[in-house]
Amino acid sequence: MIGKFIRGERQDVETSCKFTLTIESNDIKAMLEFDPDHTAQISGTVTCPALSSSPLTVSEGCFQLFSPAKNDKPDSPSKQMLYKMTLWDVYGPGVNFGDEDAAPRQRRALKLRGCTPIVYECVTKDEFQILLTRYEGGPKGPVVMFHGASVSSEIFRLDSIDANLVEYLVQYGYDVWLVDWRTSCNLPKMVEKNYTLDDCAAYDYPAAIDKVLDVTNKKTVQVVAHCAGSLVLFASLLSGALEGKVRSIVASQVAANPIPAPFNAYKSSLRLPGIAHAIGIHGLTVNTDAHALFFGRMFNGLSRAVVNHLVLPYSERCESPVCHRVTFIFGLLWEHKNLTELTHNTLHQFFGHVTTLVNAQLALTMRWQKLVSASGEDIYLPESDKELKSPVYKEHINRLNLPIRFIVGEKNSCYLPKSTLTTLNLVKEAHPHQNYSRVVIPDYGHLDCIYGKEAAVDVFPHILEALDQYAES
Ligand SMILES: [Zn+2]
Repeated sequence: MIGKFIRGERQDVETSCKFTLTIESNDIKAMLEFDPDHTAQISGTVTCPALSSSPLTVSEGCFQLFSPAKNDKPDSPSKQMLYKMTLWDVYGPGVNFGDEDAAPRQRRALKLRGCTPIVYECVTKDEFQILLTRYEGGPKGPVVMFHGASVSSEIFRLDSIDANLVEYLVQYGYDVWLVDWRTSCNLPKMVEKNYTLDDCAAYDYPAAIDKVLDVTNKKTVQVVAHCAGSLVLFASLLSGALEGKVRSIVASQVAANPIPAPFNAYKSSLRLPGIAHAIGIHGLTVNTDAHALFFGRMFNGLSRAVVNHLVLPYSERCESPVCHRVTFIFGLLWEHKNLTELTHNTLHQFFGHVTTLVNAQLALTMRWQKLVSASGEDIYLPESDKELKSPVYKEHINRLNLPIRFIVGEKNSCYLPKSTLTTLNLVKEAHPHQNYSRVVIPDYGHLDCIYGKEAAVDVFPHILEALDQYAES
């Protein structure tokens, strides 16, 4: 199907619009005779250069044939074909945050070896809608990837570096699945609803992995998880919610033992997120611009003063208010020299909101230096002080009897590198013969391990090597 598309604000400009769709019906008679209760399913792509330089992927599309036209009389002979579709650009679900004055930026096309991303909506058992984006790059099996807090799955597919992790794994033949779980700043409901990381572990991760297993018809997946996404992965595993479904793990920066860097340790001791929640502050955003309101400008000034004069060495100071806010809330997340200028200048496009409840639980786990519930219950690694002598601890730690590669930046200023070493020692003690390994990346910090300009050379091969040991082909 090919037609023309006219942009509302540019009535004089036409552009082509081409639909390439597959319609699937499980009741062809009902479709041809128009049963109002019957809809066929649509999949495929829409190519419209005015909207995106790459084909847009259809998600949750439905189709009705010979539907009565809306304003026609019941006996009117005219009928219509109804198409209802959600379209995603090649980067998957995305919202532009932050600086409204910033000029629109044409993103480069992703290098996906011809595979078209498919977006799946997925509703968890507690009725929160999360999103999965699939990049079916080859036969090595599904790899499910979970982002950290205040960001989205976008961190794995930035176009501001030459090769991002999605492109890299697609190139090596993996079926890559990005999950926007409920802390994703791409999900509009993430701000509105109250939830804890325990909810994410209990509902989002099982739902996402079940969806992947269902669509791919596989028995197990491999998982790559970063920062809070890794914390929640370990919470989900330790609680038994993913039993038998995860074949191997790559855990980036932190696992079950978050040991904070000094600035984060100091902030967590102040219990500020808990106080903020108690007085009705629902969250913080790192996004800001020149038109920030009074309190926004106050926060910008505070962030800049604290991070540039009290926290950061001279070599890491910069003039980006978004970067100041990120550092103020989470600690320095990168070595600046490892980022491209474009990545640093577009932080507002892939950072967003973090709720006070999530922030409070992150601070709580930092004070405990291990995973605990939002209410401070020791439910994930109970009785860890008694080690393997405790049957309940043994039961929980046995759920981590699977291959795990820990990856951490040597200069991580969010969680200290010994965070992953602590979890490594726990799992090794419990399962001395399991395939555990830990790689420290020299001269890297935290998120630059995921989207540093040389991450494809310095970091991704360590992820690939771990995944390849348990690939399907
Ligand atoms: Zn900066």
